[in-house]
Amino acid sequence: MRIDEVELRLVELPYRTPFKTSFSSEEGKVAIIVTVRSQGVEGYGEGTMDPFPFYREECTVGAWHLLQHAFAPDLLQHGCEHPSELGARWARWRGNPMAKSALEAAVWDCYARQLGVPLRTLLGGDRTEIPVGASLGMSSIPETVENVARHVAQGYKRVKLKIEPGWDVELLSAVRADFPDIELTVDANSAYTLADVDTLRAIDEFGLHYIEQPLHWDDMVEHAQLATMIRTELCLDETLTSPVRVRDALDMKACSVVNVKVARVGGVQSVREIHELCVSRNVPMWCGGMLETGVGRSLNIHLATMPGFVFPGDTASASRTYARDIVEQRLEATNGIMPVPEGAGTGVTLDRPFLDEVTTKTEVVRA
Ligand SMILES: [Mg+2]
Repeated sequence: MRIDEVELRLVELPYRTPFKTSFSSEEGKVAIIVTVRSQGVEGYGEGTMDPFPFYREECTVGAWHLLQHAFAPDLLQHGCEHPSELGARWARWRGNPMAKSALEAAVWDCYARQLGVPLRTLLGGDRTEIPVGASLGMSSIPETVENVARHVAQGYKRVKLKIEPGWDVELLSAVRADFPDIELTVDANSAYTLADVDTLRAIDEFGLHYIEQPLHWDDMVEHAQLATMIRTELCLDETLTSPVRVRDALDMKACSVVNVKVARVGGVQSVREIHELCVSRNVPMWCGGMLETGVGRSLNIHLATMPGFVFPGDTASASRTYARDIVEQRLEATNGIMPVPEGAGTGVTLDRPFLDEVTTKTEVVRA
């Protein structure tokens, strides 16, 4: 596969309402939208790293630099036989999975479009729709309960609450009082330490599906200890940055549920390897989200069609997050079911006038 051109766009897209977690409150999305062009066909990928490293250590300027000066020139010079080889080839540049994923995913999309097949077909995903959940940011307890009610009424298959010390047991008591039976999970985004074990143990009584990343954002050892101290299943997110990290985490029993974010693990090929591993060990996976634009969201939907993604993921309706998206297709769930966009590749087309409007910087790299 010969690649003729790689275009990088920095886009800034406002959220409908700010999204608050234990680590930040964000007003909007800053993303790098990557377009690869190969023999008249385009493919798209999204860089989901933030301007400042509040989630993992990658940030927008660093990713832009590597895309422009390392990964794109390598891709333009050498092309590829198949997009699955790119991750291994770029391993000589250490880390930076989100930057690599943005370009690798664009190549996968372009490859599928050239073949004229949906991306999910190349991934072995048979489903044409997927169950989805919603992740709710922090607000007051009455607002959260109301927000849960709204999402349950909309049919979302799972509700996830963001928690932090002091914003946990009381919140869960209030939500469980009104919704004793819904599939409920919490995400702490590393807000606790092992010193909080009593609180984490108290959370056992709420019948959660799992607790996501309660401890340090790069830890496995203490999560493995915590797993022996509480009953609720542990799911890792931030810690799992590659297939090897997932294997290590499972080997040491640091988690029993795996959150897969394509960007965090380094791209589509890494997701395939993690999928194979988790299926072989009967470990449930689900597809996380980074409030992506339609470019990243559509990729998540295709990935979540793979059979190992057994729990509802974070790929909720785009309209929850954005008043207007940069793709023309409306990525909307009905009754908690998200249809997979039809057509070749990820099945989305860019809303070019709006994309131009929200683009703050462009760079085209050519062979
Ligand atoms: Mg998370």
